[in-house]
Amino acid sequence: MTTTPVTYPTGALIDGQWITSATSFPVINPATGKEIARVPNLGAKETQDAVDAASRALGAWSAKPAKDRSIVLRRWFDLITANTEPLAQLMTAEQGKPLSEARGEVAYGASFVEWFAEEGKRAYGRTIPTTVASRRYITIKQPIGVVAAITPWNFPIAMITRKVASALAAGCTIIVKPAEDTPLCALAVAKLALDAGVPPGVFNVVTTMDAPAVGKVLTDDARVRKLTFTGSTAVGKALYRQCADTVKKLTLELGGNAPLLIFDDANLDQAVAGAMASKYRNAGQTCVCANRILVQSGIYDRFAAALVAAVEKLHVAPGTDARCTIGPLINADAIAKVEALSADAIAKGAKVMTGGTVNAAGPLFYQPTVISGVTRDMDIVREEIFGPVAALMRFETEADAIALANDTPFGLAAYLFSQNLSRAWRVAEKLEAGMVGVNDGIFSNEVVPFGGVKQSGLGREGAAEGLDEYLETKFICLGAIDA
Ligand code: NAP
Repeated sequence: MTTTPVTYPTGALIDGQWITSATSFPVINPATGKEIARVPNLGAKETQDAVDAASRALGAWSAKPAKDRSIVLRRWFDLITANTEPLAQLMTAEQGKPLSEARGEVAYGASFVEWFAEEGKRAYGRTIPTTVASRRYITIKQPIGVVAAITPWNFPIAMITRKVASALAAGCTIIVKPAEDTPLCALAVAKLALDAGVPPGVFNVVTTMDAPAVGKVLTDDARVRKLTFTGSTAVGKALYRQCADTVKKLTLELGGNAPLLIFDDANLDQAVAGAMASKYRNAGQTCVCANRILVQSGIYDRFAAALVAAVEKLHVAPGTDARCTIGPLINADAIAKVEALSADAIAKGAKVMTGGTVNAAGPLFYQPTVISGVTRDMDIVREEIFGPVAALMRFETEADAIALANDTPFGLAAYLFSQNLSRAWRVAEKLEAGMVGVNDGIFSNEVVPFGGVKQSGLGREGAAEGLDEYLETKFICLGAIDA
């Protein structure tokens, strides 16, 4: 039964056409458990059609002057911005986040389109001083070609625009496979891209319940020159292997295990505000959420008490409730994971200071939780929690904090709170992470490079670096130049 009006397409998009299929799958509102819409369940054949379409469209799109592509992207930005409210409603319906956060994500997602509309005009090459009198050396930047994008459910618009806008600005064409849980936002922004003048075949969206089959076509086809993936490290590693035979360029935005360090010399209010922002946004379902909150002994008790007081003010409710600050988790597996990690920590001696149960709002709502006395033998410090549970660990010295923070195969985001500038700089340099927030719990935006080190991924999105990921550098040698 359909319970939320969907004013955007529910067909998949291939070669500018909205297509249906013999089988479909439901999109479920996690707050109510009800079906919102059904979308086509496409397979290998349709994915091949999408690659064919993107290959056909590549020549004309890549040949357009960057300024012409920029005008189309700018129109896309304007349309997304003008549709903020219906897009936010759709996002809350299929993903669950509070409407205020959904509006924020629409703006965040649109910001990448605006940024890359401009940045595409700056794909500069170089002239290089010669080594031989009769030669001149030049480099030019060219689009890498057809791109495949596979995206997660936690940011159903921003994870798509961050990839599509940079690829299109560079002159590439793209096939997007959105997450099974959140295909509607992907289809909505794709429709707005068509309305903005993106030509048929340049931006294709393949919806499916069979991610491995679609992923195999996208990784096996030699015409796909790049894969950009955001999701779990396990799936990212499998796709990395699958891309080896055709030697594709890769951007991998994978899982994290962010440490958030609070030193005795931190400003307590800033530390609590930063921890709240980093930990509880999107009900704890972001790759940059503080997974381990490491607190120095001298401030530990005061910080824990202040954090609990702030957490107890959060309001758990469906995202459409104006008071909501914590919506539902995405599905039953997410609840099971949070419960298992909490149970393991408690069995090994940690204590629940607040929360620790499912909320009465429904089976996918989890009470915001603080667990103290967490130690390194607990699963909760090794695995991504991906839920509204803060795990507090105690440390004594700066060296201990750095060692604990880096004791993970992941390296996406890290945070530190200290009023001592020397310490802040010193520790930021030593943290093994692609991004470090100093006295700040949320820092991602379109003008700065987003990405991780170690097993959190390869490459960067956003910023000038994000455009370069979709470009090849060609060296041209002009020989036989007369004196
Ligand atoms: P996921 O299970 O890895 O899924 C991500 C995408 O990969 C989905 O579209 C999924 O399709 C698809 N997929 C799954 N198996 C596949 C296969 N064998 N071949 C091809 N595609 C496949 O991750 P998730 O649960 O959606 O997202 C949460 C994870 O994403 C967390 O680990 C989080 O840290 C990470 N994340 C990272 C960033 C970053 O920028 N570093 C940002 C956001 C999220 P289905 O939906 O159909 O399964």
